[in-house]
Amino acid sequence: MYGPKDHGWIEAVVGPMFSGKSEELIRRITRARIARQKVQVFKHGIDDRYAVDHVVSHNGKRTEATKVLTAEEIYKNIEPDTFVVAIDEVQFFDAGIVDLCIRLADEGRRVIAAGLDQDFKGEPFGPTPALMSAAEFVDKIQAICIKCGNPATRTQRLINGSPASYHDPIILVGATESYEARCRKCHEVPGK
Ligand code: ADP
Ligand code: ZN
Repeated sequence: MYGPKDHGWIEAVVGPMFSGKSEELIRRITRARIARQKVQVFKHGIDDRYAVDHVVSHNGKRTEATKVLTAEEIYKNIEPDTFVVAIDEVQFFDAGIVDLCIRLADEGRRVIAAGLDQDFKGEPFGPTPALMSAAEFVDKIQAICIKCGNPATRTQRLINGSPASYHDPIILVGATESYEARCRKCHEVPGK
């Protein structure tokens, strides 16, 4: 009904910041559009990086997206003839996002979900691990470690230029916060 196959599936694209998840999501979206498949793109509204209502990669590629806060909101927005559902920043959703992806795939759609698999502490991030388990296809991609050049699988959180500690709150008023891609050797979490 929706495409050349008679069932849908889930693709998970995961990794640390700067690994190219958004770039890869945009690449898959673009190719589906070239094939004249109807695509709908969603992103979690918590992430306001660069632009509202767009998925934007760190190297400046972008595509329009609908900002949502819940899995239910995605479901309400799905149009009947949509074959590809792309979701960015999937780690910010609650566990309901996994059920939503399964439901969409069961309906015959191709779901492509991108997100962080680990938080800045190097621990599993929200619903991403469960989504990886439910997915037919998982691509775990790497950035380049800013310190040593090894494959970077982790996101280093810096507060005023120093490694954020394990017990730092997620919101730090008045502090400058930044992120880097690092390997397991160079990733620092004081207090862990
Ligand atoms: P993600 O969505 O995983 O954060 P993006 O697709 O937004 O990744 O960005 C990937 C781009 O980030 C790369 O193409 C590159 O231009 C840039 N980049 C910046 N720092 C790094 C790094 N340390 N390793 C790899 N790419 C980096
Ligand atoms: Zn390193």
